[in-house]
Amino acid sequence: MKKPLVIANWKMKVWGDQALALARQVVKSTAKYSSAEIVLCPSFTELAAVAGAIKGSNLKLGAQDCFWEETGAFTGEISPQTLLAYGASYVIIGHSERREHLAETGAMIHRKIKAALRASLVPVLCIGESFDERAQGQKEVVLIRELHEALNGLWLTEAQRLVVAYEPIWVIGSGQAVSGEEAEHTHQVIRQTLFDLLPTSVVDEQVRIIYGGSVDPENVAQFTIQPTVAGVLVGGASLDATVFGALVAAAAKV
Ligand code: PEP
Repeated sequence: MKKPLVIANWKMKVWGDQALALARQVVKSTAKYSSAEIVLCPSFTELAAVAGAIKGSNLKLGAQDCFWEETGAFTGEISPQTLLAYGASYVIIGHSERREHLAETGAMIHRKIKAALRASLVPVLCIGESFDERAQGQKEVVLIRELHEALNGLWLTEAQRLVVAYEPIWVIGSGQAVSGEEAEHTHQVIRQTLFDLLPTSVVDEQVRIIYGGSVDPENVAQFTIQPTVAGVLVGGASLDATVFGALVAAAAKV
């Protein structure tokens, strides 16, 4: 039985006492499900509090972004080393919201992936097509381009791990996920592309491909049941501990 990876992306939606309370509630609502690997990704400012709240539980900590340098005159940025020092082991990179609102390019994302790996963090590389790109039949072209931009020339040591999150942009936050079959087909395209970029053994053993986009407790199993779907990235449904607990329960059952 596979151990699904369930990553909660809290985005810029919870902070202060609410973030602390949510982390504590999630520890309780997911305590029974050690057959899932669960990662909470709060805002930078909440990393320390959430790290404290999940200490001793099965939960892991992640961040929503990082910079590509270790230290220096980069006002407002956070290095992967800082995230590591705060207890993070995962970092989301290249989320479509950052590509859109902060003009993050493939070249920037490539540098961030490399920096995260250097710091022993697991990068969660987000890729996905927009509604228009899909309507124009460009979905696979976009995914292949984004994978090449992010991973070209990358070399993973045996200890390093990578997660690729397929997130169709038009589905994020819409309440309308794609079907499990479509996710599986797309994951196979991603996997084939990864074989062009990384050694076969690395793709097989060190890379996981997960699905994100309106995943909820009712539909999560249709994704995690698919052979190449190693887990899910969850936005909206991760903000309520009971809902998230039910989602993890359904994912862990598959
Ligand atoms: C996301 O933004 O990464 C995401 C998957 O959001 P949602 O689950 O709300 O669609």
